[in-house]
Amino acid sequence: PLVLGIETSCDETGIGIVRGRTLLSNTISSSMDEHARFGGVVPEVAARAHLEALQPAIAAAVAEAGIALADVDAVAVTSGPGLAGALMVGIGAAKALAVGLDKPLYAVNHLVGHIAADLLTGEDVEYPTVALLVSGGHTSLLLVRDLVSDVELLGETLDDAAGEAFDKIARILGLPYPGGPEIDRAAAGGDPSAIRFPRGLSRASDMAAHRYDFSFSGLKTAVARWVEQADASGQQVAVADVAASFREAVVDVLVTKALDACAHHGVPRLLLGGGVIANRRLREVALARAAEAGVAVRIPPLSLCTDNGAMIAALASELIASGRQPSTLAFGADSTLPVTQIQVAGEAVG
Ligand code: ATP
Ligand code: MG
Ligand code: FE
Repeated sequence: PLVLGIETSCDETGIGIVRGRTLLSNTISSSMDEHARFGGVVPEVAARAHLEALQPAIAAAVAEAGIALADVDAVAVTSGPGLAGALMVGIGAAKALAVGLDKPLYAVNHLVGHIAADLLTGEDVEYPTVALLVSGGHTSLLLVRDLVSDVELLGETLDDAAGEAFDKIARILGLPYPGGPEIDRAAAGGDPSAIRFPRGLSRASDMAAHRYDFSFSGLKTAVARWVEQADASGQQVAVADVAASFREAVVDVLVTKALDACAHHGVPRLLLGGGVIANRRLREVALARAAEAGVAVRIPPLSLCTDNGAMIAALASELIASGRQPSTLAFGADSTLPVTQIQVAGEAVG
């Protein structure tokens, strides 16, 4: 089926068009620049930006795919999790489009969409797989036995998301927002073992219990305190060393827990997704340690790792292929939609 997917859960307005597992177009427009001066995504600003970006993004995606809008067999949209106001804009547009075209509508889970992105790489996908999703809003470790019916949450962050931690540390170091790429750059010349920052929830007892939750707030405090003390003692803060040591702590925890989950569940496959996958050190360490552990790592291209509409269309495409009924129009935004709820059905009508 030809599916058009709409993604508006955060700051990216993403429209993607797929035919089955074939990617036809993936248009992304981000309001990140408008949030930069606030040091974080402002929900109202994001919602308004989606409103302005949606129509042109749909037109661009349709043109790029070389189709007519009327050819679309189904519409897909993110119904959660994410920013409520931002989600509502995408949902409104999706409902209008589905009704206008008289085509079925599939309301899907954003996080599971991140996993579905992997289907669009053109390579065969095997389940079960462990999936590590790391972005500005999420840090989740999942066990995917079946994309359309069985996604288990192994653990998630109890406080800051990994990307959020990068953004906060960047601010402490006087680097601009978004902080992830800035820290990556600053860390390039630094010594990752210069400072031993804490690895949250990674004590021997946590690991023995196969506890897969994450915590980055202690790490954030430790970096802030280290910088304060260095400042107070008139010491020159070596930004490269702090950035490299901080990055190492985050990467170490993410990779250690992901590979432990693979071993514990006997699953030799690891899928990485989310915007933080752009981190060079994370890719490097994940690939090296997974190779040692005999785990095959998959990293979709970055345009499919960050928030996009193609992954939403890809998930709906799988739901259709496995005979799922479309959602009714009676669903709304669910900012805390659990990852186990892959599709939102809406209430039965009539
Ligand atoms: P969501 O959580 O809903 O997926 P998001 O928009 O916050 O939404 P993404 O767009 O996937 O997430 O990723 C953005 C985050 O990724 C930001 O926090 C940013 O700092 C981080 N990031 C981007 N590049 C890098 C990098 N090279 N290293 C570390 N973090 C990075
Ligand atoms: Mg984003
Ligand atoms: Fe996302």
